[in-house]
Amino acid sequence: PIQEAKLIWRNGEMIPWAEATTHVLTHGLHYGTSVFEGMRAYDTKHNGVCIFRNREHIERLFYSARIYNIDMSKYTVDGLMQACKDVVRENGLTSAYIRPVAYLGYGEMGPYSTKVKSELAIAAFAWGAYLGEDGLKNGIDVAVSSWRRTAPGTIPAGAKAGGNYLSSRLIGMEARDRGFAEGIGLSHDGTVSEGAGENLFVVLNGRIITPPAAASILSGITRDTAMTLAKKAGHEVIEQSIPREMLYGADEIFLTGTAAEVTPVRSVDKIPVGKGNRPVTNQIQDAFFGIFSGETKDEWGWLDPIV
Ligand code: PMP
Repeated sequence: PIQEAKLIWRNGEMIPWAEATTHVLTHGLHYGTSVFEGMRAYDTKHNGVCIFRNREHIERLFYSARIYNIDMSKYTVDGLMQACKDVVRENGLTSAYIRPVAYLGYGEMGPYSTKVKSELAIAAFAWGAYLGEDGLKNGIDVAVSSWRRTAPGTIPAGAKAGGNYLSSRLIGMEARDRGFAEGIGLSHDGTVSEGAGENLFVVLNGRIITPPAAASILSGITRDTAMTLAKKAGHEVIEQSIPREMLYGADEIFLTGTAAEVTPVRSVDKIPVGKGNRPVTNQIQDAFFGIFSGETKDEWGWLDPIV
């Protein structure tokens, strides 16, 4: 169940959690015309409560909204970054998952409607490790899904839109039904795309490889974070299409995402990953969590204090 907070920001004002409701004929509910973000606030040791990469998330929200012509002209990036901080602070949260969502509202039916007004809400609530604390530490068991990701030229994977998560639901449900922690989607061409809600990295022969934007992925902000931290540590990181069999021959595999953070993969389709030790994954995971403990210097300005 969602751990309810007190207040939700909606169209510029704070309203009680229980009042943040919508009409059943809301456009976004019928046609998937919503775009959203998932971000986290961390209780850092050195900078108090901070939103991680607030600006990049809000910029991606605007990017996604542009693709579907969801009007955001009333808002600015800086204004929404502030609203996210206000929601965390006014709810008294110290660590939180933050969910801004913009959607076409009530007023007209038909998927191509240009008249229906957009709505924008930002919620924040407590949410622990998405793939489990044990998964973060010991790795998770995943399976390649029988469902493919959306192909280029169909529904764009690079926009974080509500409708895209039908694909995530199919991939995630199938995997969980079969007893796996997460499912991995292949692209239209059979190469590796991403997890149902995470980007994927392979470590092979000392190189770190991740699928390119053309592999129907969401260009993850944690993906960018992991790439930046890996390069900083002297690793070679390449964006290159990954054939399925590389998952079975990899030395290490890990998943990244705001909810999943940096989660090691222990097995794929019941085949253990590598030798079971994870020097590169551990290094990147430590560097990632080090941003919040202060052990990794935030030289990129990724931490945005809520006060
Ligand atoms: N791919 C998909 C399909 C996702 O839903 C997510 C989570 N937002 C990611 C990748 C990871 O993106 P990020 O690191 O920006 O959270």
